Amino acid sequence: MDKIGVLINWALVGIFLLTLSAFSSSRIVAKYKGIDGEFANFNNEYRYLAKTHGILLDNQINIGFSEIDQKRFNLKTGRVIGMCIYGATFREIEIDKEYWDNASETTRMVLIYHELTHCACGRDHDYNRKPYGDGTENKRDPKNINGYFKDGCPRSVMFPFILEDSCTLSHYDQYIDEMFDRCEAY
Ligand SMILES: [Zn+2]
Repeated sequence: MDKIGVLINWALVGIFLLTLSAFSSSRIVAKYKGIDGEFANFNNEYRYLAKTHGILLDNQINIGFSEIDQKRFNLKTGRVIGMCIYGATFREIEIDKEYWDNASETTRMVLIYHELTHCACGRDHDYNRKPYGDGTENKRDPKNINGYFKDGCPRSVMFPFILEDSCTLSHYDQYIDEMFDRCEAY
């Protein structure tokens, strides 16, 4: 992680999928002061699940809405819908309001879990210590074939595209266990 700048993981949504990547930002001051009420239940549930996996998360990670400026990402396709910001003295999550307002409860949950796993557990876009192919736009990386279940669902919520609800529902318990694997609690 860049110690001087601020590292951001972001989520992009395309017509079909959403992807995430990382870049440096100049943000050095936290933008949010708390957790927006819309995220409270998902945040509480995440922390409870962490505890049941033997992980204690000491620090609050503030979560807020924003209109994420898409221009700064210079994407050909897709859209940024969530970001974890790693500041020197804080970590926080931004969620795109428009995307959230139109998302299902399951998608909302998995989006918050994904971003919290960046911010609270320090995880990248990976599974079983292997990286998913960031920067592969809307394509699944064939080199990462082991990163999928037989039904084509990714093995991890840390897949660079947001999970389809059918995958989240089919593999919920596996996703929750994998999510806290290699968690470096913040
Ligand atoms: Zn991500």
